[in-house]
Amino acid sequence: MRNRGRIIVRGIVQGVGFRPFVYAKAQELGLSGTVQNLGSEVEIKATGERFLDFLDVISRGPPLARIDSVQVADLFEPVGSGFTILPSAPGALTGMIPPDVATCDACIADIFHEGGRYKGYYATSCTNCGPRYSIIGQLPFDRERTSMSVFPMCPACAAEYRDPHCRRHHAQTIACPDCGPVLTLYDAQGRRSDCCDPVRETADLLDAGRIIGVRGMGGFHIACIEESADELKRRLGRTEQPFAVMVRPDALDTIAHVSDDERDLLNSPVHPIVVLVKRDPSAHAGISNLHTIGCMLPYTGLHHLLFSYLSHPLLIMTSANMPGYPMITDIDHAMAKLSGNADFFLTHNRAIVNRCDDSVIRDGYIIRLSRGIAPRRTAIDLGNRCILGVGPELNANATVYCDGFAITSPHVGNVRNPSTLDYLRETVARLRRLLGAHFDVVAHDLHPQFLSTRFAQELADEADIEHIPVQHHRAHIAATTMEPCIGIAIDGVGYGDDGSVWGGEVFCGQAPDLERVAHLEPVPMPGGDLATRFPERMLYGILPEPEILGLLASKGWSEIELGVLKKQVDRGINVAMTSSTGRVLDAASALLGICRERTYDGEPAMKLESAAAQGTPEEWDLIFSSTGRTETLSTRALMESALARLREAPAGDRRSLHDIAASFQFNLARGIARLATNAAHKNGIRTVALSGGVAYNHMVRETIRHEISRASLDFLISRDEPLGDGCVSFGQCVYAGTLLRQRN
Ligand SMILES: [Zn+2]
Ligand SMILES: [Zn+2]
Repeated sequence: MRNRGRIIVRGIVQGVGFRPFVYAKAQELGLSGTVQNLGSEVEIKATGERFLDFLDVISRGPPLARIDSVQVADLFEPVGSGFTILPSAPGALTGMIPPDVATCDACIADIFHEGGRYKGYYATSCTNCGPRYSIIGQLPFDRERTSMSVFPMCPACAAEYRDPHCRRHHAQTIACPDCGPVLTLYDAQGRRSDCCDPVRETADLLDAGRIIGVRGMGGFHIACIEESADELKRRLGRTEQPFAVMVRPDALDTIAHVSDDERDLLNSPVHPIVVLVKRDPSAHAGISNLHTIGCMLPYTGLHHLLFSYLSHPLLIMTSANMPGYPMITDIDHAMAKLSGNADFFLTHNRAIVNRCDDSVIRDGYIIRLSRGIAPRRTAIDLGNRCILGVGPELNANATVYCDGFAITSPHVGNVRNPSTLDYLRETVARLRRLLGAHFDVVAHDLHPQFLSTRFAQELADEADIEHIPVQHHRAHIAATTMEPCIGIAIDGVGYGDDGSVWGGEVFCGQAPDLERVAHLEPVPMPGGDLATRFPERMLYGILPEPEILGLLASKGWSEIELGVLKKQVDRGINVAMTSSTGRVLDAASALLGICRERTYDGEPAMKLESAAAQGTPEEWDLIFSSTGRTETLSTRALMESALARLREAPAGDRRSLHDIAASFQFNLARGIARLATNAAHKNGIRTVALSGGVAYNHMVRETIRHEISRASLDFLISRDEPLGDGCVSFGQCVYAGTLLRQRN
């Protein structure tokens, strides 16, 4: 029986307390030897009677670890007596960058333990929790390569760090009030408060209705109580967009319905924002005028302390940056950018090396891949070339594929903004350095005008490497599966093969050979992008009838405006053609008078969904047509059905509006599902995959799922990658990888 060996463990084994775990188990089972971090693997040399038992527990790892492989080789050299944790050494980088972890229960207990040395300390952490990615400069994850390096451990912290029986044995983020980072409260003029407890003072100010910039783990939030919501909206100029809230755990159930899965997620090491269905759809309207509300639980020591002093049970906690722009990370920048928006600033003196927004999840599907999840590492075989995917434009991020792993960065934002594009550059540079990557290929969107496309071309030119354009919706499907499938991609906008605006597409095949076999009927977008901002334009594009012109006139459109709109559609002037699902939902929202102007991404369709959530759907007729191999669903016919119901409805009757909204979504989803099942039967394919931002819509997604299984086909949807554009950089890598393999 084997009683000695050299064990190599690969996977998420850094920043998760792996070495102390190995040490404790070795002690327990009476083994001697060493454990050492090598880049992103851990090497253990061990000998002892119970070696095999040891190997067994090591293979399972501590709670936060994710183990890809455990290899055992013979060990010939002698090991000394006892068991030692050796200093880290550089080694192979297989893509392990640990994400930030919410404060664990044991550390929360320490923070509130009377007389304990962590009492009231906001940055209390251990091997099981605390910042990781947001403080990392370089791998392996050791204190000297993080922004904790400027805080030398005090004797008490150093003793815990060395103590194998302590939870903070080798905890790289260990800190206490004597040696760690500290909090400071400033007013808007930059004057420092000399109060003895900045957290208590912040809580008092929040309770009094003040708006405060709070520097957290990955960037600045703006925080205030619900009563200050209108003032916050006024200051930010964001009158419609819902805010996320941080909720005291005991108050959660009074606000929203929470399933067991959602509760587990809210309490998981990730602690994401979870989009929940409100108990009363009209409640908390100042925070969210949808039927849903994004909630998270306190996830750092600072949050727990704040809520212990605060008398209000919830805080609006929104990223301090404008939507689509990068998180604000340093205090000077915050004071400059938030001047006039925040009354006070609560900050700390530990540098945020890598910014990271809060992750957002709805119904178990990732909307924003960020804190706690990203950098996300996926084991996948895309060959031996190193591939960079730079993502699309809205909701961009970056993915690097090397040696069997794809690593996706946290959410970057809308790279149409130059500052966000800079952040994308920075993110790519950081991933490259952390992973030691040398790109062989850059994959990017097919859209020639995207700044991310130009960035990819620049990178390719500089390094003299190939760049591969990937059609947006094919990237969505490639991110979902590499197997043969019928792929449904439904979202707002993506540049199509023919230069038109795609967004309601059905593909057949296997990445990279995904043939477009069905789509929504192409309809005009009068005024191009203006039709996205003003969905009533889209409505007339889909239904160019005098009755719609009359409806628009009744909403205040002038004769001249209507004349221009009519001319645009009649003659095709300044009109783009689109098969976008999002634009069709927008138009229905406009028809029902639910949303006339889009002030944030997805607004008209989200408001339509909230109205539909209170309605009961009925089946309408679906009209299909075919040209060659391609089938289309008539969205014009759906809009006509909606208009006919609207005509019959009593004026101002909310319930009929809700029913029409529900029916519209339901029948659009049925139609899309039918395009897919028809394509599946025609091509003898058994699996239907779904991706795209519209798939977050509960009724649309569940109707499609239902129809697919009714047709006895397998339904595939990703819970690991976002359904929206956050999956595109990963999908670009998959597409490029399969294309390169095909060429060989
Ligand atoms: Zn902890
Ligand atoms: Zn200390």
